[in-house]
Amino acid sequence: MAIQLYDTFTRQKRDFHPADPARVTMYLCGPTVYSYAHIGNARPAVVFDVLYRLLRVEYGTDHVVYARNITDVDDKINAAAKADGVAINVIAEKFTKIYRENTAALKVLTPDFEPTATAHMNEMIALVQRLIEAGNAYEAEGHVLFDVTSFDGYGELSRRKLKDMIAGARVEVADYKRNPADFVLWKPANDNDPGWKSPWGRGRPGWHLECSAMIEAVLGTRIDIHAGGQDLIFPHHENERAQSMCSHDGKRLANYWLHNGFLDMDSEKMSKSLGNVKLIHELLEEWPGEVLRFALLGAHYRAPLDWSQNLLVQSKTTLDRYYGTLRRLADVPAADVPAPEGFIAALHDDLNTPQALAKLSTLSTQANKAEKDDEKAKLKGEMLAIGALLGLFEEDPESWFKSDKGLGEKDLDADAIDKLVAARVQSRKDKDWGEADRIRDLLTEMNIVVEDKGEGSIWRRQ
Ligand code: AMP
Ligand code: ZN
Repeated sequence: MAIQLYDTFTRQKRDFHPADPARVTMYLCGPTVYSYAHIGNARPAVVFDVLYRLLRVEYGTDHVVYARNITDVDDKINAAAKADGVAINVIAEKFTKIYRENTAALKVLTPDFEPTATAHMNEMIALVQRLIEAGNAYEAEGHVLFDVTSFDGYGELSRRKLKDMIAGARVEVADYKRNPADFVLWKPANDNDPGWKSPWGRGRPGWHLECSAMIEAVLGTRIDIHAGGQDLIFPHHENERAQSMCSHDGKRLANYWLHNGFLDMDSEKMSKSLGNVKLIHELLEEWPGEVLRFALLGAHYRAPLDWSQNLLVQSKTTLDRYYGTLRRLADVPAADVPAPEGFIAALHDDLNTPQALAKLSTLSTQANKAEKDDEKAKLKGEMLAIGALLGLFEEDPESWFKSDKGLGEKDLDADAIDKLVAARVQSRKDKDWGEADRIRDLLTEMNIVVEDKGEGSIWRRQ
């Protein structure tokens, strides 16, 4: 069965067919490196890492080319550099390094390319020149602007009409624009700000231009998949698309546009401007990276995901159960088998990770009950194959339980305690006495008494 992906451009799930199966190309808009990344920023990195892993299994590791850029030219970087009294590259390099460490801890594979804007200035200038020559861009007061009326397809991706965009407040109005919806390709730099020499004076590229130039430089004029968060559909991706198509004879930039939903805190998008962020490096001090990753994969990538302490506790408890299974089967050599069909079918269905994780749960229960060696070996092999696709079970099971991260959470609400108690009941059913005792100890530490009643258990606070 072909992989199906929901394409924002057509607003439907479509069978995925790469233009060239020997070179499947994928681009994700990466971080702006001016500060620490929050766990919402990690969502695209993690969910599209699962897609990258899936494509590598389907088409072969050497046949998938994945680029995720680093935005290292931006007003926010300028501001951070000024505040610290350092050059922009000091800020950009510091937070690029931290971003790489954070994503590595979340078991995100390193993309094949990580282009930076500063390393592609010549390509950006050349792209602007081509757009001016083709009549899609014009110079005005040291700025170069894209003329949105020059491209019939403008607004097609975000399904916005030009006249509504002009009426709306989302576009920056300026005297030098022919049309309020025209967007900046190049803008002048103040003497105190970083700038690059160009035919239009010393200046710097617009954000949208950076991605169009980097995509062309590292992947080519047309790519199979372009991904990012839903907030990027407009204006970022609409504008990238306009620039790239107009500079490539109208050839479509991406065959599939994929967008992840927001990670929310109390039903509001997690974002620095709202001040409701949980930073990845801080979460990693308390939780193993795989717990954060598991929590991010618990919802479908297009659905909103509410981040909470309960989600983390549940994720840790569930992963403990799977690591417990693997620990029990430590002496069983894993069979070299692919991930089970039902699991693959779930991922093929527009990366349905919640359904895929449900298969993992069933498998773990089966593995706990298995008696014959060949059955155990097969089930363990299947669990590890699933882990390889989802980026889980990279830790040694024995060490997993030695880590003190994620233990001793206090003040859990009733829902989270219910989940822990249910996990303990399941462990008992699976005859995983070690795990059942571990959960009881954890609950005791939180002054919660558990009484076993027949098949189930009840609990109360002491
Ligand atoms: P930024 O560094 O702000 O450009 O964001 C990097 C990536 O994180 C982009 O793809 C954004 O769409 C994505 N992103 C930012 N905030 C969230 C959030 N709360 N939930 C999901 N994705 C987000
Ligand atoms: Zn981009």
